[in-house]
Amino acid sequence: RVWRELGKGGGKSKTKPNGKKPPAEEKKQYLEAEFTKVRVVDFDLKELVMLPREIDLNEWLASNTTTFFNLINLQYSTISEFCTGDTCQAMTACNTIYYWYDERGKKTKCTAPQYVDFVMSLVQKLVTDDDIFPTKYGKEFPNAFESLVKKICRYLFHVLAHLFWAHFKETVALDLQGHLNTLYAHFIVFIREFNLVDPKETCIMDDLSEILCAPAPPAPAR
Ligand SMILES: [Zn+2]
Repeated sequence: RVWRELGKGGGKSKTKPNGKKPPAEEKKQYLEAEFTKVRVVDFDLKELVMLPREIDLNEWLASNTTTFFNLINLQYSTISEFCTGDTCQAMTACNTIYYWYDERGKKTKCTAPQYVDFVMSLVQKLVTDDDIFPTKYGKEFPNAFESLVKKICRYLFHVLAHLFWAHFKETVALDLQGHLNTLYAHFIVFIREFNLVDPKETCIMDDLSEILCAPAPPAPAR
């Protein structure tokens, strides 16, 4: 549970946003060809996300969503020391600011590390709830399962978008851009396959998605 580490930064998330604009990167470094060509795997992601025959759709969605949660959590943890209340006073991605809505639907202003903490806490709670993500044989998925999966994917997208927008430099410094690119492409292909996130939500990252999710070039003829 890597996200729990976030609270240890000497009160770093207590800094109040002072209305200053977040440090937007002038140009999107993550779109440069030098970086977009770096992947960890080089095969057809579409084939990887498609529902295999003999596997129940909900089981497939549950297992993939849980895996993406763990991987995105881990990827965020690699740069979390740089994502503080000072450096990221709001949860930004491509000039979009995400606000957190509490259980009563009240909009709250929060820093990026707080927002990520809210996301990870909520998702952790959902994926470990046996009434929502049943693990025991014969136990049914709840009616709200699909809408909860959609909600989780929407939040996980926000975290990925923030990683590219605000922490790509640090990711490159750690030489983890191949992992981030691959994770992102896999995630986007997955949510597209099952229509899990509204395209209006993901369009801010379409420029990157187009490059990273392009079908793999045909294998050279032998
Ligand atoms: Zn940040």
